[in-house]
Amino acid sequence: MGNGEKLKEECGVFGAFSLSSLVAFNIYYGLQALQHRGQESAGIAVYDGEKVNCIKGLGLATEVFNKGNLKVLEGKMGIGHVRYSTTGSNDIVNAQPLVANFRKEYMALAHNGNLINAEELRNQLEDEGRIFQTTSDSEIILHLIAKNFQKGLIEAIQETMRQIKGSYALVILTDHKLIGVRDVNSIRPLCIGKKGDTYFLASESCAFDVIGAKLIRDVEAGEIVAIDKNGINSFRLEVEEKKMPCVFEYIYFARPDSVIDGKSVYFTRLEMGKRLAIESPIEADLVVPVPDSGVAAARGYSLQSGIPMGEGLIKNKYIGRTFIAPDQKDRETGVKIKLNVLKELVKSKKIVLIDDSIVRGTTMKRLVNLLKSGGAKEVHVRISSPPVKYSCYFGIDTPTKKELIGARMSVEEIRKAIGADSLHFLSIEGLKKNIGLESICTGCFDGNYPLEVSKGKSKYLFEKK
Ligand code: AMP
Repeated sequence: MGNGEKLKEECGVFGAFSLSSLVAFNIYYGLQALQHRGQESAGIAVYDGEKVNCIKGLGLATEVFNKGNLKVLEGKMGIGHVRYSTTGSNDIVNAQPLVANFRKEYMALAHNGNLINAEELRNQLEDEGRIFQTTSDSEIILHLIAKNFQKGLIEAIQETMRQIKGSYALVILTDHKLIGVRDVNSIRPLCIGKKGDTYFLASESCAFDVIGAKLIRDVEAGEIVAIDKNGINSFRLEVEEKKMPCVFEYIYFARPDSVIDGKSVYFTRLEMGKRLAIESPIEADLVVPVPDSGVAAARGYSLQSGIPMGEGLIKNKYIGRTFIAPDQKDRETGVKIKLNVLKELVKSKKIVLIDDSIVRGTTMKRLVNLLKSGGAKEVHVRISSPPVKYSCYFGIDTPTKKELIGARMSVEEIRKAIGADSLHFLSIEGLKKNIGLESICTGCFDGNYPLEVSKGKSKYLFEKK
């Protein structure tokens, strides 16, 4: 499908603090492991003992960094970021980490998430005379910390947390500390790893695996972890935290080999597929996953139903970010460039086609058509999440409500629109109760957000429209 038609990933953050080793290369490898969370820009900031040096650019981590510039980033503590813009345009000025210099101190910050009161806060800060360099909501956090800095670093962060509303997983670098912060609803993931005398922070645990570090634990809701030469210290806000991590991390975003809040992403997807088979069984010849997003759920569906799974759709591995969407009229070519049908496998078969989600409905319509044109007798679509009916205000770039097919149509109408012989979505109940995701944000399915949002409000961009 065309680039502009998809939901996009959010951001990935990474941090490292070592007593003995240089950290730039490990941060780079960590960012590469988190690349699925954002491909628009990549950046690393390292404290060299005197100042913070930062290199960032548009593109993938492999495009921005090379041996030469990583060597320049000499230091034992640093942070990194890969970005997809949820607030603020895709511009180099919005690339992170953001670096500030105030009261003879350096501070660098990288943020994954989205603030829902960014507009109000920025107006207030601007009225006080503060000038912003970027159009991203993350800069507000940096300003608030600076504003409250006289109280001490941790107190300044706590005061900032009292004022900002929304989702934030933060890594912050000062000249003597690496800090990790997770919002009071723990909406976006953040975890702590260790290897030898080096501590790491990362959006997902898969980033630790690549550098041989061990996952110690997740940063908790409303927790600030401060890492320095004495080890880890934990601070909390004196507010009631209500854990509501984002369900879409488990459904789609996170890598299957990550563990978030103690739950394996792969096995959660497998269970979703099993539950789907229980909720909506069908007699069929073959379970076909949409690669790669439907693979784990399809495996679960196949295990539960006893229907064999086969690769009826083959993905071109070299189509990535650089994929130039063909002309809208040439839809058939568009989908075939990325995915092709294995005609010899699907011919004359009753297929159960599995994907993780339907957002606008474009992908599924094309895939059903592709399987049928490849000779499939029937195509029964099963989706391992409920219909997406509401926009996300907490860091996932869902389109507006009117573009969401689940908000506009009933399940039967969607079935007709995508040309499937039958269609079922996993129930919210099944997702919560049977998969063990009781305390989770399902705002995109049922409009129950962790914090109140004015629903008509479009996601705020600071740019002039
Ligand atoms: P759509 O064609 O708009 O219905 O999008 C659904 C397809 O996009 C499915 O194949 C999903 O796996 C995939 N998808 C879901 N969420 C995202 C996202 N945030 N970014 C990119 N693709 C996504």
